Amino acid sequence: MFDMFEVTEIEREIINIRRHIHAHPELSYREYETAKLIAQKLRASHIAVKTGVGGTGVVGLLKGAHEGNVVALRADMDALPVSENVDVPFKSKRDGVMHACGHDTHVAMLLGAAMLLSKHRNDLHGQVKFLFQPAEEVGGRGGAKPMIDDGAMKSPKVDYVFGLHISGTEPSNVFALRPGPIMAAPDTFKIRIIGRGGHGSSPHNAVDPIFVSAQVITALQGVTSRMIDQREPFVISVCNIHAGTKDNIIPDEALLEGTIRSFNEKTRIQAKKYVTSVAKSVSRAFKAKAVVFFKEDDYPVTVNDPSVTNRVMRLLRTIRGTRTVVCKPVMGAEDFSRFLQKAPGTFYFLGTINAKKDCTNTNHSSQFKVDEDVLKYGTLSLAKLAYEFGKPHALR
Ligand SMILES: [Zn+2]
Ligand SMILES: [Zn+2]
Repeated sequence: MFDMFEVTEIEREIINIRRHIHAHPELSYREYETAKLIAQKLRASHIAVKTGVGGTGVVGLLKGAHEGNVVALRADMDALPVSENVDVPFKSKRDGVMHACGHDTHVAMLLGAAMLLSKHRNDLHGQVKFLFQPAEEVGGRGGAKPMIDDGAMKSPKVDYVFGLHISGTEPSNVFALRPGPIMAAPDTFKIRIIGRGGHGSSPHNAVDPIFVSAQVITALQGVTSRMIDQREPFVISVCNIHAGTKDNIIPDEALLEGTIRSFNEKTRIQAKKYVTSVAKSVSRAFKAKAVVFFKEDDYPVTVNDPSVTNRVMRLLRTIRGTRTVVCKPVMGAEDFSRFLQKAPGTFYFLGTINAKKDCTNTNHSSQFKVDEDVLKYGTLSLAKLAYEFGKPHALR
């Protein structure tokens, strides 16, 4: 259907959109100008637009001429609080704000797909929903949930949903994905160890929360090695400790903070339970008390529907100039997971590592640089997915 020739016709425009957004990055839930630009570009392609969905979100709806499925394509729009350290003519004009995760490319590639699909609306089956989402980067309160609460996956109800992420860990021109869980659930915890302060010379008259913290941290690794099924990808990291003021004072309390990454809901629930009971019981053994908090509403596991994803892989393999590989699960998290809880679909990566063009740093780095030559492939893949999955009996 769509071929590379058609995409190369609009490639310059896709790159220009990306560069404009890159130069004018906006932080989570403040994507006002980006949303305005998106709405304007969608309207220019004669696509119906709804703005202010779940905050700054934008939803476009394109109706094909024939009966079929509703396919949603999602791009996130927010930038990060990072000072750009790359010298390009379209370098961020905003101090301390940068599109370091490549969400500028997501918006540009999806607008490119909207242009292609709109041109082909007379042969298109079903409907295509374009979901431009705010605030993927905030964790917990990410923009997918408010968009869903605002009805983004309903009327018309979405049958399939797809999301693409540019990746600074895969080579240029490579699509990387896997059926089943692809990104982790991140559970953030805080443990307050409450002891009783005293003099460092007489710990027997105090309850030392620093000593107890050390035991808790060590014992928590036993959750990984002795309590969770070894066949499950799983991590617990304690990433900061705060306690004490002076070399000879035993403080009253210590605070530990860390993260758990898991790939299925059962493991996730078990892990939270074990972390709580290990922290409490180890502390109790040394006369201290542990209070454990988990951040509420952390992102779920991102789970690719196996049969949809196998079909997606076959479709991606038809794109000339690219390679499709099965990747390992990624320990990072994504609130695209919330869309996947509403409809089957696939989250996939498009690599951008290219040493010849100095694109070697990973997402979130102040030196993250995208190989813009891959954008056409991303655009073509999104358009193809919407077109093929729009057909009735898409899975056959
Ligand atoms: Zn990110
Ligand atoms: Zn991202």
